[in-house]
Amino acid sequence: MTEQFDIAVLGTGLFGAALTYHLTREPSRRVLALDTIPEAGRPNSTAASAGILSVQGWDPWDLAIVRESREEYRELAEEEGVETVRCNGALRVARTEEGARWLDRVERVLARESTEARRVGSAESMELLPFADLEDVRAGLYTPDDATMDATAMQAAYLRAAVRAGAVVRPSAGPVFPERLPGGRWQFGGDSSVVADALVVAAGAGSKAVLAALGHPLPLAPFRAQAVRLRPRPLLPSFPTLHDLDLNLYVRPASLGRLIAGDGTGTREEDPSRWDPNPDRTFVEGMLTAVSDLFGGLPPAPMEAAWAGLCVASPDRFPLVGRVPGGEGLYVATGFNGFGTMRAAGLARRLADAIRTGRWEPLRPADPSRFPSSVEQFDPRPEFPLEGPDEPPGPSPDGTAPPRASIPLASTGRDRVENRLLSGIEEVDGLRWSPLSEWFDPFLRLFAKDALRTGGNVEVAEEGGLVRGLFLFGSSEGVGSGFTRTRRVAERYLDRMERGGLYLEEPWRSGGEPVEVFAANLRDWESTGRIRNPVRIARPDDLPGIRALMRGEMGPGMDPWLATLPRPEETAFLCEIDGRVVGVSWLSRVGAYGRGHSFLVHPRFRGLGIGSDLLNARMLWLRRTGGRQVVSEIYDGNVASRTAAERAGMALVGRMFHFRPTPGA
Ligand SMILES: Cc1cc2nc3c(=O)[nH]c(=O)nc-3n(C[C@H](O)[C@H](O)[C@H](O)COP(=O)(O)OP(=O)(O)OC[C@H]3O[C@@H](n4cnc5c(N)ncnc54)[C@H](O)[C@@H]3O)c2cc1C
Repeated sequence: MTEQFDIAVLGTGLFGAALTYHLTREPSRRVLALDTIPEAGRPNSTAASAGILSVQGWDPWDLAIVRESREEYRELAEEEGVETVRCNGALRVARTEEGARWLDRVERVLARESTEARRVGSAESMELLPFADLEDVRAGLYTPDDATMDATAMQAAYLRAAVRAGAVVRPSAGPVFPERLPGGRWQFGGDSSVVADALVVAAGAGSKAVLAALGHPLPLAPFRAQAVRLRPRPLLPSFPTLHDLDLNLYVRPASLGRLIAGDGTGTREEDPSRWDPNPDRTFVEGMLTAVSDLFGGLPPAPMEAAWAGLCVASPDRFPLVGRVPGGEGLYVATGFNGFGTMRAAGLARRLADAIRTGRWEPLRPADPSRFPSSVEQFDPRPEFPLEGPDEPPGPSPDGTAPPRASIPLASTGRDRVENRLLSGIEEVDGLRWSPLSEWFDPFLRLFAKDALRTGGNVEVAEEGGLVRGLFLFGSSEGVGSGFTRTRRVAERYLDRMERGGLYLEEPWRSGGEPVEVFAANLRDWESTGRIRNPVRIARPDDLPGIRALMRGEMGPGMDPWLATLPRPEETAFLCEIDGRVVGVSWLSRVGAYGRGHSFLVHPRFRGLGIGSDLLNARMLWLRRTGGRQVVSEIYDGNVASRTAAERAGMALVGRMFHFRPTPGA
């Protein structure tokens, strides 16, 4: 039996995944997506991406593509429940006259296209990035719309939505080289039992070889790009992505307080079957030096990972997305010149639309037929600024103007998430979790069990057996907690919050009061001082004394939880003076992860350093017993807790939000 498809997409990196998804918006279309299983240690470009979405302002067309992409990623992330697109803004800085002129040009393009951009000098640059040394900056441009995302998570989200909409996504043991059958159809891997009417080559660095084998060579040059992930000390909260035009490097915030830095790197063509996936020593050393020079206000940051990936250059640095000249039913999408993450969604949507309608104008600047038919060798030029005319091109011609409103996603089946209440603690161990929280994922199982132990309710939102949301409510404290990355799950939790309100990690609605998240990585932590007060780990017979202190300061709300103790995952550090417990700090422990909570010092004993000692002891113990990371929430702007956390070597790394019901609602 021959399997027949209307269209096949070769390559399911971010572009191929987005295209597959958009092609399935036409319900009757049979779509096949093929990819080779990656060779160990050789990630595709999507897996290597630093995930920066930048309103670069090359020209109005490119700007529109980036904006469309960012909007689509934001909606898809909220729909599919993957890591949110973070709008952290970006700061581009130049120290030379030439760099400053480039920033002038970008600013004019952005202004014409109504994209917010603000010129900043060195003082304001340093306000935006307080730990960076930007004193010698001649000019800066701040663009609040720049964002960051996880390209691999987004690729997976597209593929999941595409499969749900009917696409067939198939891995192959090795690279696929399609062949043309008499009559014009395509067959795959020499297997005439799988055929398609049309073919889109979206095979990243593999595209050049596939097209050449089909007799349709295009001017493409795969090149290496590299990046490093560093662990700053202390861990950092989100900051605007920094593009240093003179040093030709970027630094962006990454999850768990890390940062990612990289540059354009490779300037020579690579063979995709033989390239070196290991980062160059000179690159890594250069990055470590540059980041420690730039972030002079911080101690040098240890490197956690470094990697290389293959990007694809085109002679004029614009992508090749559209019909392959002379190739009936053959399309291509590659040549993103190191900027394919920020363009994939917009270009994939436009390509799917053009294939369906035959209207190619919205892809004109990417038309592969703009190059002469004979393919000349050329060198990749991967710097950030695009050399262009001094005057930017005028407003975008009709048909390519950016759509200002948000673009609705194709319907992806709204009712697929099922909510159910758990009836017993044993059910928690049977749950299969998807990532729901940047800092609290290791503790979600424990939170769910604690809620059930203390008479609260636990509701899970599941999709295909995978937990996409966790809602803890009805506890004696009257405040619920929700963990989800999916907007409609969060909305459900908000609609059902109780009188004490609800904690959520994302600002899904306006009006949430921030709760600060502090954290430290214990590999880099050093004790900040001698412990002066009598602090020790609590024994089971200390529980009545601890309960008396907690009750006195916090009311009876914690009684049900205290009644479940002792348990191995909970450790209390206490300070005892004259036989009385005057301070306590708790630590929940799950493997290498600790969460500090329920920290208090009796008012009469404040100002003696007991708080710092309790937190310091907690950190010391955690590190000595193999702990890697500790996190704590600080509620209601509690200055004493914040100061003690900072003294103990923790740093502000993010915010959660406390939503309260509207009075009278
Ligand atoms: C270090 C690094 C950092 C980057 N940072 C950014 C950034 O911050 N922002 C940004 O916009 N861009 C960035 N990029 C570029 C971006 O990652 C790419 O442009 C983008 O991911 C390209 O997606 P793609 O789908 O075209 O290619 P890929 O992700 O490479 O996918 C192509 C797929 O085709 C498959 N394939 C190839 N040949 C065959 C074959 N013959 N048969 C079957 N399958 C085949 C491959 O297995 C692969 O999965 C970065 C790139 C690198 C390397």
